Parts: sequence; structure tokens; C-alpha cells
Amino acid sequence: MLKCIFLKFIVFFLLTVCPLISFSYSGQSTDTLSLWPTNVAYYETISLLSEYIQRESVTGNEKEAGLFLEEYIKSTDLNLRVFSDQANKYNIAASLYPLDSNKPNIILQSHIDVVPAEALESWDHGPYSGHFDGKYIYGRGALDCKGVGIMQLKALMAFKSDYDTADLPFNITALFLSGEETGGNFGAAYILSQFKEELNPVVVLGEGGAGYKNVLKNNPEKTVFGVSIAEKQSLWVKLKVVNEDGGHGAAPSANYANLQLIKSLNNLNTRKVNLLFHRSTRQMFRRLGKAEGGVRGFFIRNINWSILAPFVRKQIENDPFFSSLITNTITVSNIFNPPGPPNQISNYAVAVLDCRLVPGTSTKNFLNYIKRKLDNDNIEISVISQSPEAKPSKLNNYYKAIERAIAETYPQSETIPFLFPATSDNSTFRSYDIPSYGFIPAVISERDINSIHSHNERISVEDLGSGIKVYYNFLKQVQLKEPFSIFNIFNDADEEE
Ligand SMILES: [Zn+2]
Repeated sequence: MLKCIFLKFIVFFLLTVCPLISFSYSGQSTDTLSLWPTNVAYYETISLLSEYIQRESVTGNEKEAGLFLEEYIKSTDLNLRVFSDQANKYNIAASLYPLDSNKPNIILQSHIDVVPAEALESWDHGPYSGHFDGKYIYGRGALDCKGVGIMQLKALMAFKSDYDTADLPFNITALFLSGEETGGNFGAAYILSQFKEELNPVVVLGEGGAGYKNVLKNNPEKTVFGVSIAEKQSLWVKLKVVNEDGGHGAAPSANYANLQLIKSLNNLNTRKVNLLFHRSTRQMFRRLGKAEGGVRGFFIRNINWSILAPFVRKQIENDPFFSSLITNTITVSNIFNPPGPPNQISNYAVAVLDCRLVPGTSTKNFLNYIKRKLDNDNIEISVISQSPEAKPSKLNNYYKAIERAIAETYPQSETIPFLFPATSDNSTFRSYDIPSYGFIPAVISERDINSIHSHNERISVEDLGSGIKVYYNFLKQVQLKEPFSIFNIFNDADEEE
């Protein structure tokens, strides 16, 4: 009997629960102009983003785009601060009050740099054209992250012009950073190491999740916003095995370098992964389960129960996104030898591992784990680089203000915290214990999400306008509503549920 119920349960889980643990995206389509924020100039904003995109700013060459922003900010009544103006280190800010006012500061951050445009023949409009077809603005950076930067700047400008800002409790800063796509050393890391006191951040909103549909099986039309409160830590590791014997390919030694490396990598690849439900992931599943409701919701809420582990394991084999949320991943991103003819055995072999760790994983322990799995003392292990360790941001009053700001713009939506599987500048802010929340505040179609770091990157005017509204509503919440009095700003009570 028990077995029978158990089997039914397995079938139920596999058929109904599992398929819903993968996000898929689809957009909204409604009349563009009617949704545009009435307090923001329509064509001026579109042309601002278009011209910003036209300033090609692949990482290391941010200056031209930075100068463009600088000139624009000078034309507004915001306070400009240029932190650094080198070609590869252009970091600037536009603030409601001068930074020396030293008010606690709400930071809206984005990055100036973009990844290079590849597969040029696949772009319908040039990657730096900023082409506008009446509905979409095209080009590298449209979503990641120039579009976000313009949303933030325009929300700040609209807020300033709509309200009496003579003496509000918080400063607000739109911060434009360099170098995010290559780790942020010349952007976020530099700014925080040199100017943290001046910037005085109390909360940071940056890129991350977005609004998605088809997340809830019971209500696929409902929009679910994912707000990242933590990110996986990146750890890049080099493995090198040397075997001086080398020799002729026709008579290989039993232990030549490539063979040793292949055997050890195979051990890594076939390891049984541990399931790690970080607090941020547990919070995500609890919220998702609640939104889903019913029996299915119950299972999602409790997905970290060990009794469910066999089914969860099955699911992670087929779903890389889900897998990335609850496991430490190891990707062999490069394997190479010194150049040589086909019949000459290389005397050394190198592999590069791109490891992504669930927060709370100790780097030292993880390197020991890799060493044990490789099971070969001839393999030298060295760390190429790693992102800073950072604690997750709490579900505090700022997070609740984000929820309310999203709900004001999208009344029927649900907002859910989650662990972001990649790394962004938000982690650098979190590593300084500054609460940081990552999301693009718009319902973005699957097609447009897929254009990030790919060809035909674009943003719809509707998304641009909605994003401005969400940031604007957030500023209103924090500046003008309880519980954000100057006496209460350090309230960071978390909600563990
Ligand atoms: Zn980005």
C-alpha cells in the first residue's frame, strides 16, 4: 500500500511539479504610447537610449559613451560626479543632491560597457545603430545594460520634477560603471574601494531577473518577477598536468599528460552532485509554492525535503537552470596543449574550470573537493580568479518597497526573491554588506531575453516605459512613505517565513 502511494506520488511529481520548475518567458503586447509614463518625454527618451547605444563601449573602451552621458547629465538639474575618466575606467554619477550632502544614498546602478557584437550578418540592424522601428530600440546594450541605465536616470529626473525635493531623507544616485562584463575591477570594485564613504549607499538596485510569464502552472498568465538577492560565486581554476616523457604518439607511455587529465576530468564529470538549498533558493521556492497554491504548491514549497531528493536529482539532469540554482557547477571551459605535430605527445596539458558556487560554500573546501575528485597528485591546481564572497541581501523594507513598486505598475504580478546563477556588480556591493537587489523592471519576452549577449539585442518601448515607472514608484515608496523615516533606515529585519 505504502509503495503504491509512493509510486503515485512519483508519477504525480514528475508529471506535474517538475515541469514547472523551469522558467519560460513570454511578453505582453499592448499599445505602446498609452502605457508610457505621462511625466517622461517619449521621443527624447528613445533618442537618448538610441544615441547611447551608438557610442560603442565594449569593455575597456567606455569613455566615449561615458562622455556622452556626462554631457547629458550636465544638461539636467542633477548633480554630476565624475569619479574617473580613463578610457577603460569611466565611472560617473548623477545625483539628486551633491554627494557631499552625505545623505544615505539610494543607488540605481548600471554598467556602461557591453560585450562585443558577433555574428554581424545575423543582426537585422547594425549592433551600434540604435535603430528604432516604432516599437523596439535595437543594438548592443539595449537591455544589458544601457536600457536599464536610461530607465534609472529618467525615473530619477521624473521624481525630481514631480516632487518637492528640497530636503528628503535620502539622496538618489544613478551610477554608471565600467568593466562589469569582465568582473568590475575598474568599475564597482574600484568605486567601492575608493569612494564608498562619499557614495554612502544604503541600498542598491542593479540588473538581474525580470518579469516572466508561464512560471505558474495554475496561472500561466500571471507575471512573476524574479528579484535576485544573492548570486553564485564564480571561481575560475586552472589544472595543469606535466609529464616530461612526452614521446612519440605510436608508442605512448602509460601515463602521458593528456591521458591523466582526461581520466581526472572524467572523475569530476561523473561525480554525484550535492543538492544545496541556499536560503535565497528556499525563499524562492516558498514564495513560488505559495503563489502556485494547492497540492502542487505544497510540494514546491517543500522541495528541499530530503524525501524529494531523488526526484529533484532527476529534474536537475534535464534542466540546467534549475540545476544551477541548487548545485555547485563545474564547467570545463578550456582544454589545451602546447602546439605540436599530430604524432608528438604533448608534455603538458591544461584544463580551465569555470566553477559557480552556491553562496555559503567555502572556496577552500571546494578546492579540496576538486582535488579529491581529480584523484591525481600530479595535477597542479591554481585559482585564476574568483568573485568576492557576499552574503545574500535580506527581504527587508527596501525589498518590500520593490515589491510594492512592481505591484503598483503590474497589479496582478507576483514578486519572488531568487539566487542569480551568474555574477554581476551586485555581488561587489553585497560583499560590502550593502543590500543589493537585481532585476530589470519589465516583462521581457523570451525572444528579447535571448538577445542579451547575442544578436539582435533590443528593448521594447513598452518595457523601457514600464521600467521607468517601477523605479519611479520605488523612489516614491522609499522617499515619501513609512516606514522609511530617517530613524528607520537601518531596519534590515529579514523574513525567513
Ligand atoms: Zn549586464
